[in-house]
Amino acid sequence: MRILLIEDDPMIGESLEEGLRAENYALDWVRTGGEAQLALRQDIYDLVLLDLGLPERSGLEILRELRAGKRDVPVLIVSARDALPDRVLGLDAGADDYLVKPFGLDELYARVRALLRRRSGRSSSAIVFRGLLLDPARHVVSLDGRTLDLTARQFAVLHALLDPPGHIVSRAQLEEKLYGWNEEVESNTVDVFIHHLRRKLGSDFIKNVRGVGYKLAEADEDAA
Ligand code: CA
Repeated sequence: MRILLIEDDPMIGESLEEGLRAENYALDWVRTGGEAQLALRQDIYDLVLLDLGLPERSGLEILRELRAGKRDVPVLIVSARDALPDRVLGLDAGADDYLVKPFGLDELYARVRALLRRRSGRSSSAIVFRGLLLDPARHVVSLDGRTLDLTARQFAVLHALLDPPGHIVSRAQLEEKLYGWNEEVESNTVDVFIHHLRRKLGSDFIKNVRGVGYKLAEADEDAA
């Protein structure tokens, strides 16, 4: 899952960047309204964390423009403006949730998970498919009740394939979900993660869709 963080406060930004990466999200951090607009031209984000008081353009302007362009990416406003009219304005402008600073990181993570699962139409954060269970809240993956030991990147690849299960994900989309701007992507890394996941899940679990990408195989599908 890839998150765009729009925040001009260096301390808050650094703590969110570090914390969300540790939670297995890929994260891009922009510090001005102008940079935010540029970043949002790419439709690659699963979630946006939006501060309201920003240089160049306000968070509300950015949000209104996003929604005017019919973009439905979940937006969580994170702002020190705690007055009721500000919160109402933010939600009415198209934000999905509003968190007032100062906040606890655990609450922010929980709201992020809630928005992501709501977007996928699920009521619980754990995803279950063919005996496989992935729970982003607890960072746990198990297969037939047996806990699997996955690295952060392997977890992120599997999460992308599972949300929703059975849809095809291209290599480029996986790279987008795995790496923020500042991170070097080596050409074959996705294949390496898939290879390791197959070793842990069984070789028939992840299917190659030739020329398109990868998907999780249904029980009656043969992996190619
Ligand atoms: Ca600010």
